[in-house]
Amino acid sequence: MVMEVKILTIFPEIFPGFLGYSLTGKALKDGIWQLETVNIRDYAFDKHGSVDDTPCGGGAGMIMRPDVLGNAIDNTYTGGRIIYMSPRGKPLTQAKVKELSKEKSLTIICGRFEGIDERIIEEYKVDEISIGDYILTGGEQAAMIMLDAIVRLLPGVLGNAASTENESYEDNLLEYPQYTRPISWKNRDVPEILLSGHHENIAKWQRQQALQITKERRPDLLEKTLDSK
Ligand code: SAH
Repeated sequence: MVMEVKILTIFPEIFPGFLGYSLTGKALKDGIWQLETVNIRDYAFDKHGSVDDTPCGGGAGMIMRPDVLGNAIDNTYTGGRIIYMSPRGKPLTQAKVKELSKEKSLTIICGRFEGIDERIIEEYKVDEISIGDYILTGGEQAAMIMLDAIVRLLPGVLGNAASTENESYEDNLLEYPQYTRPISWKNRDVPEILLSGHHENIAKWQRQQALQITKERRPDLLEKTLDSK
C-alpha cells in the first residue's frame, strides 16, 4: 500500500524539505509514500491570489479565507482523512502517529497568519492535530514533523522492524541508556552488564533503567503505564 499525502499550503516550495533526506527521502523515492502539494493561492479568486482577510469581530492578524481554502479542497480532494495542523488540536503522540500510519491517504492543511476560518473545520469534518504546546509561524513545519514520524513507521522504511519496539513512548516508557564501542572512553566505561552476554539480565536492567528515567523525567507517562497494567 502506498500512502498518499496531499499538502495544502501557501508555501509548496518548503516540501519535501528534510523529508527528502535519509529514511523518509528513500521511502519517497521507493514509492512507499507519495507527496503532492497544492498551492492554495492557485485557488484564489483575484489576480493577486489573496488567501486571507482580517478577523471578524476585530483583533490582530489575518485569517485564511474559507472560500479560497474550500475551493482548493473541492478541486483537489480525493478521499481520506483531512487534518489541520493546529495548536488547538489533539496532541500528536506516538499512539496517534501509529494510528495515522495505517491510513491510505492524508490531506493536510497548513495554516499561516492567525489560522483558518472555523467553518472549514466544520464543513470538511477536519481533525485538528497539534505537535506541542507552543505556537509556530505555520502548519508546514508541524506537518513535516508529523509526516516524519508517520513515514518512519510505514512497512519497509526502517531496516529492522524490531527497532521501533523498544523505543521511547512504547509502553509509555522512555528509552533506557544506549552505548556502543569503544567500551572505554574518557574514563567512562559501558555498564558491565551489557557486556555479560546474559540476555535476560540485560533485558531486566534495561527495563529497570527505563522505569527509573521515566520516573525522574516524565512521571505523567509512568502513571499511564501503571494504569494500563
Ligand atoms: N492564532 C492561532 C495560532 C496561529 S499560528 C492560535 O492561537 O491557535 C499559525 C499556524 O501555524 C496555524 O494555523 C497552524 O497551522 C500552525 N501551528 C502553529 N502552532 C502549531 C502547533 N503547535 N501544532 C500544529 N500546528 C501549529
